[in-house]
Amino acid sequence: MVKRIYFDYAATTPMDKKVEEAMRPYFSTTFGNPGSWHGFGQEASAVVFEARRKIAQNLGVNYREILFTGSATEANNLALRGLVKSGKGAKIIVSAIEHESVLDTARDLKNYGAEVVVVPANKTGKIDIKQLEREIDEKTLLISIMYANNEMGVIQDIKKIAKIVKEKRGEGRYPLLHTDAVQAFQYLSCRPEELGVDLMTLSAHKLYGPKGVGILYKKKGVELKPIITGGGQEDGYRSGTENVAGIVGAAKAIELVGKARGKETKRIEALRDYFWKNLKNIFPGASLNGPTNRLANNLNFALDKISAESAITFLDLNGVAVSAGSACSARSLEISKVLLAMGISEGRARNSLRISLGRSTTKKEVDGALKIFKEMRKRLK
Ligand code: PLP
Repeated sequence: MVKRIYFDYAATTPMDKKVEEAMRPYFSTTFGNPGSWHGFGQEASAVVFEARRKIAQNLGVNYREILFTGSATEANNLALRGLVKSGKGAKIIVSAIEHESVLDTARDLKNYGAEVVVVPANKTGKIDIKQLEREIDEKTLLISIMYANNEMGVIQDIKKIAKIVKEKRGEGRYPLLHTDAVQAFQYLSCRPEELGVDLMTLSAHKLYGPKGVGILYKKKGVELKPIITGGGQEDGYRSGTENVAGIVGAAKAIELVGKARGKETKRIEALRDYFWKNLKNIFPGASLNGPTNRLANNLNFALDKISAESAITFLDLNGVAVSAGSACSARSLEISKVLLAMGISEGRARNSLRISLGRSTTKKEVDGALKIFKEMRKRLK
């Protein structure tokens, strides 16, 4: 059987063996419910505490500021819905290229009376900061802008946005700034205090950790109402028995990313650039979508005259997994809303592919993939 090549690390990552090992005892050996009074429960509770402490240390924040959820989607929902429910105001501002877990939530909040402003992005994927600034008024409760985009890898200037938000806030407590750092964390330092954000979302499965664990950093003093009520876990912000093994895995994954980030970013960037240079030799008409300052592992490009659907199918049949855009939303090859929001034409968007490299990508794999792309050019011309 041909060895398959995975070029879709922005969709999800394989779990690191060290993460798997760290998690193993918490499935059946130390299996207590952290909420139980007895020793089994206390053991599990101590494990969750230690994981929370480690993550907080990694992010340079207090452990009480870390909330565990069942996904980044849920963490984003908690940030947006939890604030709107807190009733302090009614206007939220998001960008047009947010992940659906922010965009769709914002849309839904309109049904509950919130005013939602969607700030556009330009052809390079950068959001219009001037417009964002103009939109902030005394009713604005929250601004949610992702640190790096999942399709395009475009990195937003969160520090600059935070400065504007703080100026507008003056002596008041609002608006607050939330950033979805799910894609950014692997390649960029994501310390909330350095970024100047009040809320930040992470997802373990994008970091070689387990699926089903999200993290919401919530700065001390930020008032949120829970969106899942029940037993009062996570300080009352997110009820439900803690996913002990998953939380341990998330802490290990974050620790490993933190240690490897600098070196890995350089390695991946070099492989990504090598791939692109050679791909251009195969497809001289191929051209990049979006920014020059993209995440180290990301490429998003249009292939001349070959639809993404045909390309993905051909590549998949030949063992190379790539994506057309946001694979996490559905298994459909719908046209990318992010590309359209950036003003890219429908035709071009239909021919666009996203490639995202990762920790296991090697030069041999890149060369292998290039061979298949060459084959594709011959067959699908
Ligand atoms: N935010 C971004 C930027 C993402 O790429 C994803 C992944 O699909 C999510 C949020 C949702 O993450 P999760 O799969 O943990 O719900």
